[in-house]
Amino acid sequence: MIESNNYKEALQNPIFEIISKAAELLNVQSYVIGGFVRDYILERNSKKDIDVVAVGSGIELALKVSELLPNNPKVQVFKNYGTAMLRFEDIDIEFVGARKESYQADSRNPMVEDGTLEDDQNRRDFTINALAFSLNKETYGDLVDPFNGIQDLKDKRIVTPLDPDITYSDDPLRMMRAIRFANQLDFMIDETSLKSITENAERIDIISGERIVEELNKILMCETPSKGFLLLYKTHLLERILPELTALNSVEEIEGQTHKNNFYHTLEVVDNICKNTDDVWLRWSALLHDIGKAPTKRYNKKQGWTFHGHEFLGGKMVKKIFQRLHMPLNHKMRFVQKMVIMSSRPIVLSEDAVTDSAVRRLVFDAGEDVENLMTLCEADITTKNPKKFKKYHNNFSIVRKKIVEVEERDHVRNFQPPITGEEIMEIFNLPPSREIGQLKEAIKEAILEGEIPNEYEAAYDFMMKKASKMELQVVNPKM
Ligand code: ATP
Repeated sequence: MIESNNYKEALQNPIFEIISKAAELLNVQSYVIGGFVRDYILERNSKKDIDVVAVGSGIELALKVSELLPNNPKVQVFKNYGTAMLRFEDIDIEFVGARKESYQADSRNPMVEDGTLEDDQNRRDFTINALAFSLNKETYGDLVDPFNGIQDLKDKRIVTPLDPDITYSDDPLRMMRAIRFANQLDFMIDETSLKSITENAERIDIISGERIVEELNKILMCETPSKGFLLLYKTHLLERILPELTALNSVEEIEGQTHKNNFYHTLEVVDNICKNTDDVWLRWSALLHDIGKAPTKRYNKKQGWTFHGHEFLGGKMVKKIFQRLHMPLNHKMRFVQKMVIMSSRPIVLSEDAVTDSAVRRLVFDAGEDVENLMTLCEADITTKNPKKFKKYHNNFSIVRKKIVEVEERDHVRNFQPPITGEEIMEIFNLPPSREIGQLKEAIKEAILEGEIPNEYEAAYDFMMKKASKMELQVVNPKM
């Protein structure tokens, strides 16, 4: 953490001098505020955008800054919000006029009026996000910190500048932001805040799916998302956002037989997968891979607890969740569905001796996504029995090796049948018919079973044998 009387050092980028000059020409005060200041002091260099507040018009300040820059970059103006944005090198700079916000109980949108810097800091979500560096000539680089946010940075605490009930009820998304920051920065949420979030949890219902998902994605992109999800759970937010997950948090016992708690298991799988992928959709797959288990859970004397068909049902539930939260209903959703539906395939494989044909079928079904599926399944190994843990991992490394070997030999990943349907129709002089489908299927099966290699000649010979059993006449032989 960087502590200083003056933070000129943070303002080395020439853009800050230019903003300062522009503000001086307009005779307004300006400050850099929020995430940039917080992350500089914390020595986190993850920030790419800068928020600037002008005590006056943010739009005019942005236009003046553009005028002073050599290539006069385009200024995007959002009139309704009184903000403007421009890009300098690879940094987005957002300008806003200092404002005072007051919320009415009957409206989601605040009444906004011009305000002082302090008014603007009051409307910020957390003390650590209300820190500002002065860009004004006499005080250039001074920290403006009315809520002692610097102490909260030191203590690693998420605290609201106002009474938390007001802050959270004004904009309930802040409840998720609190949890997201606690997760990203590894901070604690202040006790009164946590209580207030719990009490206000149902207010999250007025927030759009898009804004909720933005925060969920950021939580999922943390190093240890379980921390965030446990906070979401503890504050009762999770049951409103993803009830399918909280439904997994139960362990039943019948005749002395229990099953694992699939909620905590899921969180472990998510933490595990984060060590091996930065792909947010694969992380979503880990989060949702077991959601079909709550509705499919059954008990019978013979087998104990079962979750038959949970993968398939889980795949269907993925679509409902994506629809409900306004997530993209495109190839990304289909990817998550596919991972959930296939999530038990490699596990079954790894329990027994790994055969070539089983691996070939896995590669055939998973196609391009087979490595991602393996990453998911490796993360799914949460057994605390060291012997089993080792056995499963060993088997999975055998599966991974075999995937490469089988693929080199048989190219089933993007399977193209060695003999096309058209060719088959021509050889037997048949119209499109059931027989064509049967021959194609038989060739594919023979390849996947390893009876023949994925090659034209072998497939042709095999087809001829099969056709003669089906009493089909060869009319135009190819070979
Ligand atoms: P990150 O970029 O990691 O999300 P950030 O703090 O820059 O961090 P932004 O969402 O870019 O987050 O917001 C910029 C600043 O705007 C915040 O630091 C905070 O001061 C303020 N802010 C953003 N969203 C809210 C909100 N919902 N309520 C109050 N203040 C907010």
